[in-house]
Amino acid sequence: MKDKILNKEISGRKEIYADDKIRFDCHSGVACFTRCCKDADMYLYPYDIIRMKNRLGIPSDQFLKKYVIQAIRDNSYFPSLMLKMLDDEEKTCPFLSDEGCTIYKDRPFSCRAYPLERAVARSGYKNGRKVLYFIMRHDHCLGHKEAREWTVAEWIQDQQIEVYNEMNDLWVDIDSIFRSNPWGSQGVDSAALKMAFMACFNVDEFKKFIFESTFLSRFDLTGERIEKLKTSDVELMKLGFDWTMFFLTGTGPLFLTHSKKDSP
Ligand code: SF4
Ligand code: SF4
Repeated sequence: MKDKILNKEISGRKEIYADDKIRFDCHSGVACFTRCCKDADMYLYPYDIIRMKNRLGIPSDQFLKKYVIQAIRDNSYFPSLMLKMLDDEEKTCPFLSDEGCTIYKDRPFSCRAYPLERAVARSGYKNGRKVLYFIMRHDHCLGHKEAREWTVAEWIQDQQIEVYNEMNDLWVDIDSIFRSNPWGSQGVDSAALKMAFMACFNVDEFKKFIFESTFLSRFDLTGERIEKLKTSDVELMKLGFDWTMFFLTGTGPLFLTHSKKDSP
């Protein structure tokens, strides 16, 4: 049975289900090849940045300066991050070449998921998250006229989206906190926002912060987790999320060392 909670078109997007079929293909033979890599809002999430900066072999702060723009979009209390397009006539993605995407294996979620859009319910579901998929259509995209058929599940597998979904689901919890104006009257200029931004998006700076301060002695982390933090950007990102939740809400899986010792 299909897992269904809504069955309607929302803002021109059509909701679909994992076993629904879509007709779509994208390859170098389509007349619109790379059209979508120009003048587009490509949103970036924390895991995207890890994949891309490691692909390029540069630290996260350099990546953020060179390739990212920030703008207040659907959340008034935290900026959205997007790929910075080149300042040329067509506003071309900096990673586009004549042959296509030069970072294809590490392209961000927004690029790999199209024409699917994934939405995760933030609350209201007691037995895990509710996930909705939508199909998007842009007039310029001729991929919808191709004959190849996929189920939604096959498309997700083919585009290697699962790991992105897993990481982005963790981000939803933090993003939800940011939407509640945790900065109070200081608003988006608050020092807390800058720290949260660093912990979530600037993984190499966050690494310096935790290893070059008293952080590791103040928080109750296992030796195994500390060892992983030395080599894994994903582990750093997850700790960044935990720490952001801790200092903005006082909840979550992270505890101060003394609070654990003092607890009964
Ligand atoms: S990252 Fe790659 S797929 Fe995404 S817009 Fe740029 S060139 Fe296109
Ligand atoms: S516009 Fe559509 S078919 Fe054309 S390259 Fe982009 S995603 Fe592929």
